[in-house]
Parts: sequence; structure tokens; C-alpha cells
Amino acid sequence: MVPVLSPEALAAQGVEARATYARLAAAGLKLDMTRGKPSPEQLDLAEGMLALPGNRDHLTESGEDARNYGGLQGLPEARRLFGAMLGVPPELLVVNENSSLAVMHDCIVWALLKGVPGSAAPWVGQDVAFLCPVPGYDRHFGFCEGFGIRLIPVAMREDGPDMEEVERLAADPAVRGMWCVPTYSNPTGATYSEATARRLAAMRTGASDFRLFWDNAYAVHHLTENRPAPHDILGLCAEAGNPDRAFIFASTSKITLAGAGLAFFAGSKANVAWYLEQAGRRTIGPDKLNQLRHTRFLRDLDGIHRHMEAHRRLIAPKFEAVLEALDQRLGGLGLARWTEPEGGYFITVEMLRGSAKRVVELARGLGIALTPAGSTSPHGKDPTDSILRLAPTYPSLAEVRAAAEGIALCIHLAALEADGL
Ligand code: PLP
Repeated sequence: MVPVLSPEALAAQGVEARATYARLAAAGLKLDMTRGKPSPEQLDLAEGMLALPGNRDHLTESGEDARNYGGLQGLPEARRLFGAMLGVPPELLVVNENSSLAVMHDCIVWALLKGVPGSAAPWVGQDVAFLCPVPGYDRHFGFCEGFGIRLIPVAMREDGPDMEEVERLAADPAVRGMWCVPTYSNPTGATYSEATARRLAAMRTGASDFRLFWDNAYAVHHLTENRPAPHDILGLCAEAGNPDRAFIFASTSKITLAGAGLAFFAGSKANVAWYLEQAGRRTIGPDKLNQLRHTRFLRDLDGIHRHMEAHRRLIAPKFEAVLEALDQRLGGLGLARWTEPEGGYFITVEMLRGSAKRVVELARGLGIALTPAGSTSPHGKDPTDSILRLAPTYPSLAEVRAAAEGIALCIHLAALEADGL
């Protein structure tokens, strides 16, 4: 990115931007664009679910009492419904409690303490590294940071991670895993191409127990008419002779209720058996009434898509408002570029090197809270200090618009400051 204006034009912009900043700072805004949370209106879409399954409605399709213990893998009707959503056969899906992050955490802890199918020994005490596409999801990084797993950054592109680099790095036997958000990735919104998925499934790895941590958190979270189907990563891995390579994770946190949804694990037959063996020591069974509630409410894949369409109607205008505000102030200036996601929960803005922290500080001065600069990189440190993640779903449309105008202004101002204006 190279600024394209004359010194005079830049000076005039400096005067205008500083005056606008002073005016906005006096307005006493209080806006939060930090975390990708559904708005209250989005949660209201699932309000009807709270009355389900309803009095005396506690029998599963096979006549079991959903109120009781048991059913470790989840109800067949729930596995059918969400297997269809994720493109996974029901027998290879496990339905858990509400948080997929908790499922990922369990898998890492169990891998450390026990190893995974194919491990010669538990991972703990060994030099273990994970590849992580950057920009990426801070909570994925947090697991590894918390357990002493080295994070190796790989550049994220529009069709997934830089595969040349991934293939080169995966040849190291210390590399045991890789974080992947294959659909509408957090935070760039990029969706892995079929070719990327195939290469990940087929690449040579130095570790025989290497795992793709395939977090398909946004599989059905479309912002346009396009509805790319999830890659059949289990099929691709099996076809390539690496049947146990993928651990799939997902949840309904951003479909039904962020704090009371269902989380999923899926994998090969061996991986599911391994998962259930560990899970069976941890619990006698999940909340099956919540599984009934979800199957009664969403019914089938069409029902899921209809529900997601209602989300889209609420949040797509917020994404548009952010893009419009960025374009209005920064379009054509060569000071920043940003993603225009077709799904998911985030917009990523790349600004001039060395200015992201300053933008966050300037935004704070306007009463706008942003995710800390660096949070999309391992250990919270972006060596370029140029990336910010915007999360427009939670605030109201008017608030998102005001916040986006403020953020665009701060990016502009930081660039002008860098120019000494
Ligand atoms: N995975 C990704 C990629 C996310 O962006 C998020 C939330 O922002 C989660 C997982 C959270 O998942 P859950 O609510 O199922 O724990």
C-alpha cells in the first residue's frame, strides 16, 4: 500500500481529520467492536427453542428417555441433522455440550496425556508445534500457549493458508497439528479452496500422528446467496491414505444460542472411538434434552438454512455499513485494505505497518473499543503491527455505522500522523 496524494492534499486531510476527531471525541460515544458475539436480536431468533421439547416431550425417536443418563455419542436424530450440516456421516459425529472450544481443549489435553491414534507416545514432554495460519483466532493460539505447544505462523491467503509453506513446515516431525478454520475463517473470512483441502489431506507430514484441527465454526454462516458446501475433509483424508488426519469441530453457538447450543466432534472411526473412550471417563452422557430441543426446532438441513437466512438479514447490513464507512473515508487513498467477507463474523483491516496499535488507541479516545492490535497473531504480537479485526454483529446497526466511521477516521489519522501531519 502506497499513499497516493500530493503533500497539499494530505495537509488538508490532516486538518479535516483532526477536526472530525475532536468533534467525535466530544460526542461521548460508547461502542464495542471487540468480540464476535451474536446480537440480542439474533438470539431472539431461537427464542422459540426455549419452550422445547416441552412438557412430557422427552422421548427420542428410538423411544429412549432423554432426561436420563447415557447416550455418550449423542442422539441419532441430532447426529443425522448436524452430520448433514457438516457433510459428515452420523456415525462419525459426536454431539457434546455447548462449547466446541471445550471439545478442542479436551482433544489437546488428551493428546498430551495419552497421544492420539497413531501416536508412539503421549505428546507431553516432547517438542510439539502447531502450524497456525495468520491472521488467525486468538483462542486457538491460547490453547497452545497455555500448554507449551510452539506456534508456527503461516501466511493466510484468499483460498486458505500458503500451502507451499505448510507442506515445507509439516515435514518437521515436531509439527503435530495445524489450526484450520476452513469456511469463512476467523478473522479474514477466507474459505479454503477444494485444492487447498486436498493438499492438506494428502501432504507428507514428518509426524505419523499429525492432526488437522478443522474448526468449521462458520460452516453455514453465509452473508450472500452463495452457500459453499463444507469440504469432505474426512473423505479427502481417507482417499489420500491418511484416514485419521482430521479432527472436525463445530457448534451451534452462532446458529441457535451462543451460551446454550450444541458442540460437535467428528473424525474417522478410530478417532471417534478414541474420543468416546476419553469422553466416557469424563461424563455419563451429555444434555440430550438440548439435543431434542435443537432437532425439534431446526428439523432438517433446510430448517438450518432458513434459520441462517434470518441471521443474514440481521447482520449483512452491519457488514455492509462497515465496508461502506471504510470505503467512504479510505477508498483509493492507499492507506488500508480490508476483506469483504461472504460469511462468518469478522472483517479484517490491514493498514500501514506500525499503525494498528495507534489506531486502537485513537479509537479508545473516541469511546470505541477494538480487539487489541496483535490479537490475530501468536502470543498477541503482530510483527507488522498492521492488522485489526472488526466484529460488527453485536452492536445495533446505527452503532456499527458510527463505530465504523470512527475507526476509518482513526486509520486515516494514524496514517497522517505517520507522515508527520
Ligand atoms: N471457533 C472459532 C473459529 C470461533 O471464531 C469461535 C468464536 O468466535 C469459536 C470457535 C467458539 O466456539 P464455541 O462457542 O463453540 O466454543
